[in-house]
Amino acid sequence: MSAWPEELLPHMDTLIEVGEDLWTAGLVATHGGNLSVRWRQGALVTETGAMLGRLSHDHFVAVDSRGRPMNHGPSDRPSSDTAIHLATYARVAEAGAVVHAHPPYAVALSLDWDAITPPNLEGQLFLRRVPVIDVKWETSAEPIAEALATQPLVVTRAHGVYARGATPWDALKLVSILEESATILTLAGRG
Ligand SMILES: [Zn+2]
Repeated sequence: MSAWPEELLPHMDTLIEVGEDLWTAGLVATHGGNLSVRWRQGALVTETGAMLGRLSHDHFVAVDSRGRPMNHGPSDRPSSDTAIHLATYARVAEAGAVVHAHPPYAVALSLDWDAITPPNLEGQLFLRRVPVIDVKWETSAEPIAEALATQPLVVTRAHGVYARGATPWDALKLVSILEESATILTLAGRG
């Protein structure tokens, strides 16, 4: 049995629901993406290779500020993107959660575009110009965190999106709005 601190259980339950929504909405492949919430000096992150649509309490890892597992749950293998999550928390005080997903229309537009701007008023209420940045995965933590310091969402070209929010629901909302915008733009022939 895992020995999770009681305070982490509601966070895990929220991330489980957000993961289900990401999967159901087609914003991520079966084994893609990762999620976290800020916790103490570090974070609670999904396990590497976890299926976001089928998360349980066994699929999370609590890590310290340097990404070292704190041995609360059964897994000691945090997401390979953990450094990105931690860099975001270190740089952005208001970030309480980070969501990484692979929304197909947004990623498709990122192949040729340097930014995605929602075409509809509702999208523009929450997102302005969402930048597309070029990063090498090995050195991507700081550039992504830097981009997330000035806006809540960034697209990494030909890969996916990273969103931060006060809660996982806030970050999910932004990913969903961006993908809706990218879908509309594509259907309208702007892609
Ligand atoms: Zn990814």
